[in-house]
Formats: sequence, structure tokens, C-alpha cells
Amino acid sequence: HLKGKTALVTGSTSGIGLGIAKALAVHGANIIINGFGDADAIEAERKALEELNGGKAAYDSADLTKPAAIEAMFARAEADMGGVDILVNNAGTQFVSPIEDFPAEKWDLILALNLSSAFHAIRLAVPGMRKKKWGRIIATASAHSLVASPFKSAYVAAKHGLAGLTKAVALEVADAGITVNCISPGYVWTPLVENQIPDTMKARGLTREQVINDVLLAGQPTKQFVTVEQVAALAAFLTRDEAANITGANLSVDGGWTAA
Ligand code: NAD
Repeated sequence: HLKGKTALVTGSTSGIGLGIAKALAVHGANIIINGFGDADAIEAERKALEELNGGKAAYDSADLTKPAAIEAMFARAEADMGGVDILVNNAGTQFVSPIEDFPAEKWDLILALNLSSAFHAIRLAVPGMRKKKWGRIIATASAHSLVASPFKSAYVAAKHGLAGLTKAVALEVADAGITVNCISPGYVWTPLVENQIPDTMKARGLTREQVINDVLLAGQPTKQFVTVEQVAALAAFLTRDEAANITGANLSVDGGWTAA
């Protein structure tokens, strides 16, 4: 159902973003991936997406903490792909530390990447979507857009902000054929989760196994990690006509975490 449409997925060289890019490519969307990583690995991912969609896939290396780079990415998307019909604000990073020691530069980085980059991408995407009278804006928020955990002050603040941004913009564009939603996963097994295990071990004085079972999965009643494919399938559903009246929603995929 997405032939002729273009999806820009930020932070899609790994993890959830790459999964969403694949799930949209399967339905025929042209794809722009973005993020950091090994050049050969990214090129292999780009080619694999072109096999999935039978169309175009491009890679943009924009550092999303820099608004000028986001503007350049949208200018290229306009020139090469005819604009962005589906915007997935997925890029994000984590830093775990008690508030007293939380490095100010980590606060600035997390706010810039996890929240402000979505603001810039949305403001640049909406004019084109209004012209086409169709658009889909999706953010990968988090269970931490609804509830908090200690030692993640910047991440929790940014994700709550992303959920608020989603609601405000949804109201502004509600009559323009554009929906705006966020998906809030619990713990998904990706590099982002794996990389925070050592810091959580240090912050809480726990072993690796204790962090996985007593911290990460403690609040997830299913006692399972969410999969990338489960999150991606919901993102793909939100692009369908059947989802035209789902807007301003914060959709949990968290194994029951935020029900507790
Ligand atoms: P990941 O680390 O696998 O992917 C992050 C992506 O962002 C990568 O492609 C990386 O290259 C890119 N990136 C990092 N800094 C960037 C920058 N400055 N500019 C552009 N791209 C940049 O992580 P993930 O787990 O797939 O996380 C994706 C999103 O899902 C994040 O917003 C994260 O907060 C959210 N999330 C993850 C989980 C989880 O358990 N993994 C749970 C809830 C929400």
C-alpha cells in the first residue's frame, strides 16, 4: 500500500529503526535510512532495502543533533525522492547516571537527539504533507514517555517531551490528512539496551544477570523482551488507511509494563 510514497526513518542503521525501514519497504515505500555505523554495513542494508521495495533506498548520514544537517537531509529528500510522506522519528540514545553526577553535555545530547531532532524534522516535513493532503508522522518514544526509572533523568524528560510534541502536532494537522502518533516500547533487545547494561551494573552495583532479570525485565510482566519486528509491524499498520483515525496516540508495546 506504500508504492510511490517515501519514508524517512531516523536512526535506522541498527535496531528498531532498521526494523521499521524494512517493514515499510516490504509494502513498497521508497526509504531513506539515517544513522551512524560502518560504511560497508550501511551500504549492504541500503541494497537489501531496495530488494525489499523494488524501488529506491538512500542513506543520509545527517547528525541529528545539528539542525542544519536535518535541513540538508530534507532538501535532499525533496530533490531525490519528491519529499517525505512518512516520517519516523526514531533516533535516540541513553545515558544512565545519578542526577548529581549527570554530565551536562549528556543532558544536552539526549535532549537534542531524542527530542529536538523530532521537532526539526516535523516542522520540515509538515509543509510537504499538507500539500499532498496525506502524511504519517511516527515517533519511537518509550515506556519512559509514560513512567520513569531512576538514573535516566534526561531520557525520561526527553521521551515525555516527545509524547507531548506528538499530541500537540496531531491536533494542529488533524484536518490535513496527517496523523501523528508515538509508539512506546518496553525493553527491546537492541544495541541500545545491551550497551546500558555495564553502566547500570555500576550505578546499582549488580551483576549482568541481575540487571537483565531484576532491572530490565522486572517491570515487564510478560518477562520477555519486545522484538524489533513487533514494534515495526505497528509502525507499518499506522501507515495504512485503516489507521487514518488513530492520531495523537501513545501506543504501548511494553509487555504490560505501564499497566502496573
Ligand atoms: P540503537 O542504538 O540500535 O539505534 C539508534 C540509532 O540512532 C542508530 O542507527 C544510530 O546510528 C542512530 N544515531 C545515534 N546518534 C545519532 C545522531 N546523532 N544522528 C543520527 N543518528 C544517530 O537503538 P534502538 O534500541 O534501536 O533505539 C531506537 C529508538 O527506540 C530510540 O529512540 C530509543 O530511545 C527507543 N527505544 C528503545 C527501546 C529499547 O529497549 N531498545 C525501548 C524504548 C524505546
